[in-house]
Amino acid sequence: MATVRRSDTAPELAVRKIVCDLGIRYTLKNRDLPGSPDIANRSKRFAIFVHGCFWHRHRNCKRATTPRSNRTFWEEKFEANVRRDRRVAKVLRRLGFSVSTVWECEVARPERVASRLKKELER
Ligand SMILES: [Zn+2]
Repeated sequence: MATVRRSDTAPELAVRKIVCDLGIRYTLKNRDLPGSPDIANRSKRFAIFVHGCFWHRHRNCKRATTPRSNRTFWEEKFEANVRRDRRVAKVLRRLGFSVSTVWECEVARPERVASRLKKELER
């Protein structure tokens, strides 16, 4: 979500390092692509989003809490984010991109993220 988006968050940096260590080249802040993927490669046609578990509602994740007050406000906000993420992924796939999502909580286990991304990016 544009308004809460900070650049170069710790999880983003961690994922960049993982992709870099895999020897895969990429560009950052791809504003010309739908959803401005955090990491992408146009010729290899992949896009990676590094999502915060709270804002993007990581399913069954303990970080995806809902604040007690203004519940409706938050629920609508979260729903809009999730809908947007889905729409963006769909558009990118239609353009021939493979779309990967790395959740903030996953970067605590970089070797797991690395093996998943390796599979997803080398298709
Ligand atoms: Zn999570």
